[in-house]
Amino acid sequence: MNSVKTYDVVIIGGAIMGSSAAYWLSRMDPGLDILVVEPDPSYAKSSTALSVASVRQQFTTSVNVEISRFGIEFIKNVRNWLGQGGGVDSLGFQENGYLFLSGSEESEAVLRQACAMQREKGAQTELLMPDALKARFDWLNVDDIHLASFGAKDEGWFDNMSLLDGFRKAAQHQGVQFLRDRVVGMAGAKDQISSVNLESAGKIFAANIVNAAGISASDILEMIDEGLPVEPRKRTVFMLTLQMQSILTPR
Ligand SMILES: Cc1cc2nc3c(=O)[nH]c(=O)nc-3n(C[C@H](O)[C@H](O)[C@H](O)COP(=O)(O)OP(=O)(O)OC[C@H]3O[C@@H](n4cnc5c(N)ncnc54)[C@H](O)[C@@H]3O)c2cc1C
Repeated sequence: MNSVKTYDVVIIGGAIMGSSAAYWLSRMDPGLDILVVEPDPSYAKSSTALSVASVRQQFTTSVNVEISRFGIEFIKNVRNWLGQGGGVDSLGFQENGYLFLSGSEESEAVLRQACAMQREKGAQTELLMPDALKARFDWLNVDDIHLASFGAKDEGWFDNMSLLDGFRKAAQHQGVQFLRDRVVGMAGAKDQISSVNLESAGKIFAANIVNAAGISASDILEMIDEGLPVEPRKRTVFMLTLQMQSILTPR
């Protein structure tokens, strides 16, 4: 008799994508036996923890705007979505907006086209000519600016770690198990993984796998000699002094 545990779904990586997948899957089908494997419950080096955690509606692809329309509804009403199990009342959303600037006729046309599409999808993006831009952000040199687009509504930043905590707790409340361990191997083919090897707990069987290992997602596929075009890209966050911060606040 085989004593190795079999799960309906094993999720590799328990940061925002893994915990979110666990929450939605367990909400969709409460009968699913779901395990999330995460080696570092502090998430210190995950992209999720390092993120600026901002949300915008200004995209050039309509599906991204649609995703963000739902995203902002979720962020603003997190308590309703995650319920008591999530234990989060608010994500402290700061509605400060994104400002995109165009300095050429070509990019001006892109902003105009994108703004029309975004507004059609329900976003409240505004186009600002240089005079209006200067009136709103008087610290900005607008001499070489053709046009700007600004999202005064539904754009800004929020508390990423509370969102992660909420997804985790809500998923656990719905019966999902979280295990501190690391996936070190898999057996099977790309479309039919049969088992997963964990560093400490050893072998487990999985009917379905969700690869939510972030920038390590391609390492997971390499375990079965498959490739995945996912690679880390450097992102930089600039911190401004308090004096600068005060003039950066939109009116
Ligand atoms: C500086 C910075 C700023 C950003 N700003 C924004 C922003 O403003 N807005 C926005 O929308 N996005 C932003 N992003 C992007 C966003 O943070 C990421 O897209 C998102 O957090 C990815 O989440 P993830 O769960 O896929 O990956 P991660 O958060 O990296 O999580 C992957 C998890 O997988 C685990 N893992 C890895 N290998 C294994 C293994 N072998 N077995 C088990 N588990 C494993 C890791 O421990 C980790 O916890 C930013 C990213 C960075 C770095």
